Parts: sequence; structure tokens; C-alpha cells
Amino acid sequence: MLEHLYNDLDHHFSEMVNIRRYLHMNPEVSFKEVKTAKYIAEYYKELGINVREHVGGNGVVATIKGGFEGPTVALRADFDALPIQDEKEVEYKSTVPGVMHACGHDGHTATLLVLAKILFQNREHLKGNVVLIHQHAEEYAPGGAISMIQDGCLDGVDVIFGTHLWATEPVGKIQYRVGPIMAAADRFEINIHGKGGHGAQPHKTKDAILIGSQVVTSLQQIVSRKIDPVHSAVVTVGSFVAENAFNIIANSATLIGTARSFDEEVRQQIEYEIEKVVKGTCLMNDADYQYDFFRGYPAVVNHEEATNFLKDVASEVPGVHEVEESPLQMGGEDFSYYLQHVKGTFFFTGARPYQQDHAYPHHHPKFDIDEKALLVAAKTLCAATIHYQMKLKQESLTDSMK
Ligand code: MN
Repeated sequence: MLEHLYNDLDHHFSEMVNIRRYLHMNPEVSFKEVKTAKYIAEYYKELGINVREHVGGNGVVATIKGGFEGPTVALRADFDALPIQDEKEVEYKSTVPGVMHACGHDGHTATLLVLAKILFQNREHLKGNVVLIHQHAEEYAPGGAISMIQDGCLDGVDVIFGTHLWATEPVGKIQYRVGPIMAAADRFEINIHGKGGHGAQPHKTKDAILIGSQVVTSLQQIVSRKIDPVHSAVVTVGSFVAENAFNIIANSATLIGTARSFDEEVRQQIEYEIEKVVKGTCLMNDADYQYDFFRGYPAVVNHEEATNFLKDVASEVPGVHEVEESPLQMGGEDFSYYLQHVKGTFFFTGARPYQQDHAYPHHHPKFDIDEKALLVAAKTLCAATIHYQMKLKQESLTDSMK
């Protein structure tokens, strides 16, 4: 069964590439992916696959009913692009000024569409249903996952798998990780209200720049002295604005930054500790402040059983040469929300462009992938689906695949 599906996928590789390139040339930014959503829905309609449009916004969900009773496996691919000007010199370069698929979501979509086609053609052999979740707006919080879940995309789903093409790792490598794999990505904003005045009469002012500087310095102690060192965290002030003339003491200052963490308690602690620093520093200086902490996506926390299952399955997939534990990634992903509702796992599929030692990172204007990775991703998701539905015990996995 699986060998047969792998063969079908091989034969449809050029279709996968064509879809990916079409999407690459026609990108749409988060929450505005109207044409992309329509393209996806049309693909399913033409095949006669049951599809639901406008799920939680621009989301599209297709369902394949298997020939036998069994667990329902959901596979997710996101399809939004980024507000970045494409600077690559390739024939499939973006045709939309200032918009580009710079994270590989075009590849995710092409992978899932073609895999869905193959699964549908072989549906009488499937031991359960497969739900294809095409998610809009991954790049921009609050993201599309929450609204799609609220609109029922996980109804009846037993397990979910998702992958991200990873341009910094070579094709043939799969990276998994039990527990947290991607960080909670939050933003904070601090406004310090001092008292401006003449640069030569500091005693009559409350210098917002000096107070802000004290805040920045003290914030460094949160990660180094407040957070348990076995946990990872970042507190970064990325913007400090207090514009003035050279001889004027600033009336106010605005600090904006990001906080990253993997553990919900650490996340809450950071939110609380930042305010303590700001409050204490302003009290000391007789100044006022406003503090806001905006929560982005929570950390992506993979389920143990589903992750170990995926790890075992991946090692048997043709084209996969290496299966290794992923390092923690400080980037965020709203796949986290699915994992708060059903068990599952999110993994990385190596997609580094051929003969490139130093790939352009995700969100770079010259970002690109090796399209052979689409096939590896499709086969791995396919194997996860089939094996999960066969409810194979991990111990007997190797034997049964022969
Ligand atoms: Mn992404």
C-alpha cells in the first residue's frame, strides 16, 4: 500500500513543483489570501473531494472518507505569504510587488494538495478519514488557526501532523522534538512619562531617557537572575525612542521589545517581571508609565507519543537520510493551537537549496527551497497517515513496512 502511494507521489512530483511555482508567483499576504484559497478549493472540487471554504476566514478544509472505519488524521499546511519584495532571479519569481512566499508556505500547500489527490485516488484502502487543513494567516497574529478551530476544523480529528520546510537543513533530513519545539513569541511596549525641560537644568526635570536606560539595563536581569536557568527565555528591547533636540531633556520615551519562552509559567513570569522593573524604576524616579504585554502565539508543544511515532515512521521513508532531534527554535508558529486541542506533532523537513552551504534564512528577500523537499514532506506525511490508521505498534513498524 505505502510503496504504491510513494510511487504515485513520485509520478506527481512535477505537478507538485508546478503548483508550488504558481503559488510562488502569485503570493498573498496574511488575511488577504482570497485567490489562493479559491485556487485550493477549486483543486478539490475538480477532483470531487468534499471541501469546505471560508473556514474561520480564508481557511479551506477538505475531507477524504476512507474505505474502512478508523481514526481521523488531520494534516495541516499554511498558505499565506509575507510583505517582502522578492529579490531572487528565477523564472518563478513573485509577480506581486512587495509580496513574497519567503517562508515556504507555497511548498506546504503544493505538498498537501498532491498528497490529498493521491490519498483520494486510493481512498478505498484507507482505514479512516483524512482531513486536509489549509490554513490562512499563519504569519500574522492572532493567526488563522484559532478561528479555523473555532469553526470546527478539528471536529472528529484524532491526531494532527504538520511540517515546515526548513531551508537551513539539507534535503533528506527530518527534525522532530518531543515537547516544546518553537517558542511563544510575545511583544511588549513601555511608555515612560517623565518631565521634560532645559538640558542645563536637569534638577527641574524627570529625564525619560535616563529612566528608560535604567529600565533597559534592569530588564537584562530577568533572564539572568529571575528565570530558572534550566529554562530558555529571551527579553529583547528592539526599539527605544525619545526624540528631542540636543539641549532638551526628554519628556517621554517608548521602549518596544519581544519576549520568547517555551514554558507557560516562564512566559507569565516574564510578563510580570518586566512590569516590576518598570514600576520600580519609575517609582524611584518619580515618573509614570504605561505597560502593555501583547501575547503572540503560544509555544508549539509536541505530544510525546505522536512525536516518537513520527520519528520512527520518518526513518523508513524513501528519501529520508537522517532523522534527528531538532534544536529549540525561538521562532513562533500557530500550529501550537491545534496541539492544545488534539494530540499530534510538528516537525521540520530539510529543504536547503542544492549546492548552497549557507541558505538564505526564512523571511529573507532571497529565500528559496529545494523543491525535492516537497516529495520528502509528502511521503513523510503520507507514511504518518497510513501507519497511524493501521495503528501499528512502534515495535512492529519496521517489519510491516517490508
Ligand atoms: Mn512559516
